[in-house]
Amino acid sequence: MNYNINTRGYYGEFGGAYIPEMLYPNVEELRQNYLKVMDEPEFQKEFNQLLKDYVGRPSPLYFAKRLSEKYNTKIYLKREDLNHTGAHKINNTIGQILMAKRLGKHRIIAETGAGQHGVATATVCALMGLECIVYMGEIDIARQAPNVARMKMLGAKVIPALSGSRTLKDATNEAIRDWINNPIDTHYIIGSVVGPHPYPDMVARFQSIISKEIQWQLQEHEQTSQPDYIIACVGGGSNAAGAYYHFLEDTDVKLIAVEAAGLGVNSGESAATSVLGREGIIHGSKTLLMQTKDGQITEPYSISAGLDYPGVGPMHSHLYKTGRAEFMSVTDDQAMTAGLELCQLEGIIPAIESAHALAVLEQKSFQPNAIIVLSLSGRGDKDLETYINHFKL
Ligand SMILES: *Cc1c(COP(=O)(O)O)cnc(C)c1O
Repeated sequence: MNYNINTRGYYGEFGGAYIPEMLYPNVEELRQNYLKVMDEPEFQKEFNQLLKDYVGRPSPLYFAKRLSEKYNTKIYLKREDLNHTGAHKINNTIGQILMAKRLGKHRIIAETGAGQHGVATATVCALMGLECIVYMGEIDIARQAPNVARMKMLGAKVIPALSGSRTLKDATNEAIRDWINNPIDTHYIIGSVVGPHPYPDMVARFQSIISKEIQWQLQEHEQTSQPDYIIACVGGGSNAAGAYYHFLEDTDVKLIAVEAAGLGVNSGESAATSVLGREGIIHGSKTLLMQTKDGQITEPYSISAGLDYPGVGPMHSHLYKTGRAEFMSVTDDQAMTAGLELCQLEGIIPAIESAHALAVLEQKSFQPNAIIVLSLSGRGDKDLETYINHFKL
């Protein structure tokens, strides 16, 4: 079984590029060039240098002693929370901004929901001196004021999406419209392993630095490069794709993907896409998505803004369908409790997205000598207000 992308841009039956004809030249230009550019020694050198000096990689693989004692197993945390800007998203935006420059683009567009990808994009645009336009739903602009302020400070122009539900999918539509109108000079930075081929594969490759580091770091700690389990939360799926990447074909390594159940999988207020979703087309790719009987996309809900996405990347749909990864879902309450537990056992305040992955430790039992690597995708500073309200701190 092949778990990676095939030459036509599909993971099994999922993926592809379902785009309006007017977008074809842009996507095709990227498709024809991305592997060639990523293979260039000069590109590799610049990418790796920035990951080291600007992002602060390698991120530590930390043995969480007290957490391990509590759950009677061996738990390592992959500390993406220590990256510049506080999460794994910067790995991808660094890669894509270098790609954009190699393709001669000098204008960058992006869409953002919670604002995390918008901030990571505005950051790399400032770093490279490129124009940055971020589309964001009007509702999200109001809900995520600190991230809007960050983007503006970094020099980005934030344009509100005023149509539809005025959230992420409407911002995506605006970004696509912009790209159609500016095919020559503009690159569209997508923030997860979603979108038309080649985006899911390109983003997975940029994020694959995570599993590459896990291999040698685990060798240092445990004299093996192979964990028994890798656990990661899944919104679109990029931190999970990065953490799994170099282990995809090694079926001795069990993969656990954690989705947000919101108020409960069957509550109608959830983002457990693979369990609830059916095959459909979103953001230019064929994948599992939450939809009504007549195919309208359902508004997702999660307490964590980063997991609040109605679809999931095509790689993950394939991992779900083939059973290569075990999909679990975690409610708001379970995630918040697990987040607070990490604070008090290890002195690390996790992003609420990452806290969903942590909640698996309570739900599933592991052998005492099992080696678990958990992707701590981001830090919780951005979530302080949510923690305060939830625990009445
Ligand atoms: C955006 C985000 C996620 C979800 O995105 P993926 O593409 O699924 O990784 C998870 N954790 C954090 C901290 C995020 O900012």
